[in-house]
Amino acid sequence: MTLRQNLTYLFSETGLAALRGFIDSATLLAFDLDGTLAPIVADPGGIRVPQTIRDASLKLMEQTTMAVITGRSRSNAQAHLGMTPHYLIGNHGAEGLPGREAYEGEYLELAKNWEKQLKGLFASANGAGIVIENKGATVSVHYRASCERAAARSQVLSGIELLNPQPRIISGKCVEDLVPATAPNKGEALLYLMRHLGYPKGFYIGDDKTDEDVFRLMGEQLFTVRVGTAGPSRAGYALRNQQEVPGLLKELVNALGGQH
Ligand SMILES: [Mg+2]
Repeated sequence: MTLRQNLTYLFSETGLAALRGFIDSATLLAFDLDGTLAPIVADPGGIRVPQTIRDASLKLMEQTTMAVITGRSRSNAQAHLGMTPHYLIGNHGAEGLPGREAYEGEYLELAKNWEKQLKGLFASANGAGIVIENKGATVSVHYRASCERAAARSQVLSGIELLNPQPRIISGKCVEDLVPATAPNKGEALLYLMRHLGYPKGFYIGDDKTDEDVFRLMGEQLFTVRVGTAGPSRAGYALRNQQEVPGLLKELVNALGGQH
């Protein structure tokens, strides 16, 4: 079955056959958190990984290596996961990659520097409703609390333009995430982890535009799934919504030989 945007539905005959043919113990399994392992809720602080997903994840971790790659900081993500994946990569790829600790030290300094500059900029620029959050290796500038969101966003972006050095910007819902320009994105983080751990194949599932950095990787042995069918995507396959993720995990457990 073909969904909108020519994405193949993962739970079609073709999709399931492809998944079962691909997944084996040489496959590193990687997952996004918000909107993938955990359903999106109105308050981002209230997300939670459902028990069915936690149980299936524990089974998967007995069978192969599991990574979670998220835009949240590692400590924040860990608080919502309710389990400990083998690798937890935070801050969109900037935090938690084994062997890159020295770079993380640089990112921490960079984030502190941006936080200081932003506080100075917005303190003297009528920055009501703008909240600066230092997430360790990245900085988030929130404007959810502002009454005039469009105006607040342009004010935030003008402020960011003045930063030295310039960050890479990831725009979210009422938030701009500032990422060190040299930090890996989610796609680079996944490839790094595969190479570092010696996995020739990778599986990845995610739901938003930062996950497209994985989906657009070419020439790699990757099986990619997008949660949701709205808008264009470079993923190989799609699920209709997050409620289908537990079924996918079950398929992964079975594909790895854990039916018994
Ligand atoms: Mg997500």
